[in-house]
Amino acid sequence: MEVSVCSSRPVLLPCGLKDIEYQVDTYVGCEHYCYYCYALPQAETDWSKEVLIYNDIVDQLSKELASIPPQTIYMGYQTDPYQPCEAEHRQTRKVLELFLKKGFSASILTKSDLVIRDIDIFKEMNNAAISVSVAFNDNQTRRLFEANTIDTEKRIEALRQLKEAGVRTGALLCPIVPYITDAIQMIDLLEPYADVIWIYGLSINDRESQNWLNVQKILSNQPPDLVEQIESAIFAKDHNYWAKLRKNLEMIKKDRKLKLHINI
Ligand code: SF4
Repeated sequence: MEVSVCSSRPVLLPCGLKDIEYQVDTYVGCEHYCYYCYALPQAETDWSKEVLIYNDIVDQLSKELASIPPQTIYMGYQTDPYQPCEAEHRQTRKVLELFLKKGFSASILTKSDLVIRDIDIFKEMNNAAISVSVAFNDNQTRRLFEANTIDTEKRIEALRQLKEAGVRTGALLCPIVPYITDAIQMIDLLEPYADVIWIYGLSINDRESQNWLNVQKILSNQPPDLVEQIESAIFAKDHNYWAKLRKNLEMIKKDRKLKLHINI
């Protein structure tokens, strides 16, 4: 994986999430290269070969943070802060150390177990929240949709270790691929270790988009009637598939008193 320096740009950006004002992406591009990724259409490089880093993220961010009060910053919106090259380049670790020094905290989303490397920092932060994203029950299917991520079991083990260390945890069950992801089975696996679970379906609006072209290619070996069913559910949020799943999820949320945020 080639790691080059990106053009000059701000590191600290406004965040669209509720209750979080700012986000930081420690890389530009993501070598996890999930074929459904919403950030793919804006990719500046071929993520299978190259991702970008800031020239001196600590120096730049240090100046940008000086204008805002200490608060929680989101990491993991347009890139995964713990993608494989983080093991060597440590951009995320450096940013977390800076946050800690300046009294900031972090809310992080990742698909990697490299996140457990930084448990020492999360424990020192004021109420850090770490979430792990999963979507596929079997790893053979996962590999079709996510070229370079780790096994679902390893991510859940990372969540377990975070929880055991006393860190606030969450899980993002996303994207539910209709007729492929078994959402209830995934919740059974996540429930013991995630304080909260957010659930989202695969969302693609444009049949010309790169994400849909990628998903079509992945599904090309599947029976045509199954592909037709999947496609109709992906492009219709009022599809019966989602209504039925929503009902089941609402039921287990109530019965098991789970903190589920159902967004399908
Ligand atoms: S890990 Fe997230 S940011 Fe990276 S490719 Fe996958 S969906 Fe996109």
